Amino acid sequence: MKKNCLECGEPLNGRIDKKFCSDYCRNTYNNKINKDSKNLIRNINNRLRKNHRLLSDLNTTGKTKVTRTKLLDGNFDFNYFTSIYKTKTGNTYYYIYNQGYLALDNDFYLLIKKE
Ligand SMILES: [Zn+2]
Repeated sequence: MKKNCLECGEPLNGRIDKKFCSDYCRNTYNNKINKDSKNLIRNINNRLRKNHRLLSDLNTTGKTKVTRTKLLDGNFDFNYFTSIYKTKTGNTYYYIYNQGYLALDNDFYLLIKKE
């Protein structure tokens, strides 16, 4: 059974566990993978940072009620948070680092800051 180089697709000769035809192909392939994962992590970190900044800006007192519209106007992205806290009473707080929010009725949100 012949295998091909993961980078350039050339047929491989020699050891059965070989994945690349050359050091050049191995380096090129690995650099691409590292670049993709670095970009992914950078983009998510940026999203989290923006979310965190918006909550910090809106929640100057440590406990603030805001509308969903206000969060969306600030480009808040509800997909990105760092932790979830569920209370015994069934409420779910979402945290971006030390800034959290809880969904209330009628599209309001309670912003809270963890000490
Ligand atoms: Zn190759």
